[in-house]
Amino acid sequence: MSSMLETLGQLPFASLLHQREGTLTRELLQQPGGFGLGQVPDRLLPNGTTTMVCGYCSTGCGLKIHLKDGEAVNLSAATSYPVNMGMACPKGWEALSVMDAPDRAKTPLLRNSAGRLEPVSWDVAMQQYVQRLRAIQDRHGPHSVAFISTGQMPTEEMAFLGALAKFGMGMRHGDGNTRQCMATSVVAYKQAFGFDAPPYTYADFEESDVLVFAGANPCIAHPIMWERVMRNRRSPEIVVIDPRMTETAMYASQHLAIKPKSDQPLFYGVAKLLIDRGWIDEAFIAASTEGFEDFARFVADYDLSRVVLETGLRPEQIERFAETIHERDRTSFWWTMGVNQSYQGVRTAQALINLALITNNIGRPGTGANSITGQCNAMGSRLFSNTTNLLGGHDFANPQHRQKIAGILHIDEQKIPTENSWAYNEIMEGILRDKIKALWIICTNTAHSWINQNHAREVLDRLDFLVVQDIYHTTETATMADLVLPAAGWGEKEGTFINSERRIGVTRKVRKAPGQALSDFNIFKLIAHSWGCGEMFARWSSPAAVFEILKELSRGTPCDFTGARDYSWIAQQGGVQWPCPTGMESPAQERRLFEDGRFFHANGKAKLLFEESRPMPEQPNGEFPFILLTGRGSASQWHTQTRTSKSAVLRKLYPEHLFVEVNPNDARSLGVVHNEWITVESRRGNLRAMALLTPAVQRGQVFIPMHYEATNRLTDAVFDPYSKQPSYKCCAVKLVRGENESHHTPW
Ligand code: SF4
Repeated sequence: MSSMLETLGQLPFASLLHQREGTLTRELLQQPGGFGLGQVPDRLLPNGTTTMVCGYCSTGCGLKIHLKDGEAVNLSAATSYPVNMGMACPKGWEALSVMDAPDRAKTPLLRNSAGRLEPVSWDVAMQQYVQRLRAIQDRHGPHSVAFISTGQMPTEEMAFLGALAKFGMGMRHGDGNTRQCMATSVVAYKQAFGFDAPPYTYADFEESDVLVFAGANPCIAHPIMWERVMRNRRSPEIVVIDPRMTETAMYASQHLAIKPKSDQPLFYGVAKLLIDRGWIDEAFIAASTEGFEDFARFVADYDLSRVVLETGLRPEQIERFAETIHERDRTSFWWTMGVNQSYQGVRTAQALINLALITNNIGRPGTGANSITGQCNAMGSRLFSNTTNLLGGHDFANPQHRQKIAGILHIDEQKIPTENSWAYNEIMEGILRDKIKALWIICTNTAHSWINQNHAREVLDRLDFLVVQDIYHTTETATMADLVLPAAGWGEKEGTFINSERRIGVTRKVRKAPGQALSDFNIFKLIAHSWGCGEMFARWSSPAAVFEILKELSRGTPCDFTGARDYSWIAQQGGVQWPCPTGMESPAQERRLFEDGRFFHANGKAKLLFEESRPMPEQPNGEFPFILLTGRGSASQWHTQTRTSKSAVLRKLYPEHLFVEVNPNDARSLGVVHNEWITVESRRGNLRAMALLTPAVQRGQVFIPMHYEATNRLTDAVFDPYSKQPSYKCCAVKLVRGENESHHTPW
C-alpha cells in the first residue's frame, strides 16, 4: 500500500486507478468516452515557486508556494499580488500545515453491519454509491436524492458537481453552504441591480472618505481587507454599526451600538434625513433608479423619534451619521453576516443599497453598496454551482436559458430541470417530510454548522443513505455518514476561485493528496462513469478544459470572462476581475461596476426596494432574558475549525475553550465571576462555556463565537423569506450558574 500511496498524484489518473483499483474501475475506464486517458488533470509543478490563491476566505490573497522536488515545502505572502501586496493572515501562513493532519480521509469508508465505518476500495465505494442511490431513486423517485455543495471548492469542481447531479443523475434539489452566508446578498443584488453583482474593487477601501461597516468585523473576519483600509490616506471617517464593541468598532470614529436587528429601521431613518435635508443626488436618482417616490413616502414614517426608540441610539448619533455621508464626497457601505444572517436580511441589505443609490455613492472610486463574501469561492458558487441558479447565473425556469446551456454543454435540453432547486432549509424539511431519502454532502459540515444543531442531526439521522465527501473523516458530519469519500484539499488540485471583488484567481496542485484521496474533480468523474453518464462529461476532461466551458457559459452575461485566456494568463495578470469579455487584452488591475450609471435590469435602472421592518422573532422574556449574538471569534479560526484546529500555531492564537462574553453588570447581578464555567441555554439546547466579562457586549446581550461545536445547539431556525438564509445572529437565552449536568446535551 505504501508504494501506492507514494505514487498518488504523479501518475495519470486513469493509470493510477488501473493500478490501484479493482475490476469495476477498470471496466469503467474501458467504456467509450472514458476518463480521457492520457490526461493528467492536475499535476505537480516543477521546482521553484508558484503563486496561487489562498483557500480559506473570500479575500483571495496570493500565496507564493516554495517547491522542492515538485512539492510544496513552505509558503509566503505574494508581494506582487494586487489583493494582499505581501500580507497574509495567520490562516494563510498556516495553510499548508493543516493538510498533514492525521485524520485526513485516506480511503473510502463504508458503514458495516456492526455500524462502524471501515475502509473499502474505490470499487466498493462506487458500487455502494451507485446501487444505493439508484435503489432510493427507483423506489422514491429521482428527486429523493439531493446534494449539499460548498463555497470552498474551485469553480470547475462545483460546476461539475452541479451538472453531474442534475443533468447526469436526475436530481432536482441541491444547494450550497453559501446559503448560510451569502444568499441574502445574492437576492438583494439580483432584485436591486438585475444581477448578482458586487460592484466594488478593493481599492475602494483605500479611496473612500467614509467607510460604513454594518454587521461586519473585518479586523478579524477579513484582516487583509482591513489592512487595505489602514492604507487609506484620505483621513476616512469609519462608521461601525454593530450591537457589540467589536475589534473593528474599537477603531471606529463613530460606533453605532444599535439594539440587535435594528439596522433596517436605522437605514430607513437615515434615508429620511438625507431626503428631508436635500442631501441626495436627484439627477442620478432620476437617471439611474426607479421607485424613488414610493421609497420617499415609505421612509417618511421613520422619523427620528421612532428610530431612536427602535435602535436605542441618541438622536445626535443618527444625525451625525447622515451628516457624515453628506459632508464627504465618497462613502462606501460594506456589510457581511450581521446583515446577511437575519430574518429580514434581504431588505436590510437593500436598505444599505438604497442609501448608496440615493446619494450617488456607487460606480465611483471609494463608493459602493458592497457585500463582503465569506468563503474563498462563495462567488464562484453563486454563479456556477448549478444549485438554485442554472449555470452561469441563468435561470432553470427560463426556457431560453435552458436552451442556451444545453447547446453549450451539448446535452439534451430535457435533462435540465425546469424548476429551481429547494434551498438548504427546504432540503432539510424535505428529509423530515420523507421527500428526500438520501443526501450527498460535499466539503461542508452540516452537523456542526446548520442552525438549531440538535434538530439538524435528528434530520440527518432520518436519511436512508448519507454520503459525505471531505478531506477529513472526523468532521461531525462525516462521522454520521454511511459512506465517506476521501477528497484532496487546497494545494492538492487545481482550478479557479472568484473572490469578493469578482477577481478570478488560480489555485494549483503543489502537493500530493494522502492515501487514496482523489481531487473532487476526479471523484465526480469517477461517479459519472460509475453512474453511466460519463459520455455526457467527455469534454470535462480536466479543470482547465472545464474552465473553457465556464467561459462559454459566461459569454454575453454580466460576468462574461471569455477574455480570460487560460490559467497561466490569469496568474500573470494577478487574477482578473469579471467582466473580462473577449477583446479585453489588458484589463486594469482594479475595476468597479456601474461607472456609467447603468444597471442590469432591462431599463438600465436600479430598483429601490423596501419593506416594513419587523421585530426579532424570538424576543427575550423572563425565562430567557438575554439576546445571544454570534460571530467570528478570531482571525485564526475558520468556520467549523475542521482545518484551523489542526494547526498548533493557530490553536495558540485563539481560546481553547468555548467562552461566552457577558456584560460585567449582568454578571454582577447573576453572581457570575470571570472565567467561571456557566450554562447557556435556549429553548432548543444548552452548552457549557467560560464566562468572559467584558463591556464589549451591552447589558442584556451575550456573545458566543460561531466556531465551536456547541454554539448551534442554541440558535433558532428562522430564515429570511426571500433568501432562505438562516438567522444565526439573535435568539433568546438564559445563563445558569453551577455544574448542572442536566443542562448538557448528550453529544
Ligand atoms: S485573509 Fe483570507 S485569503 Fe488572505 S491569507 Fe487570510 S484566510 Fe487567506
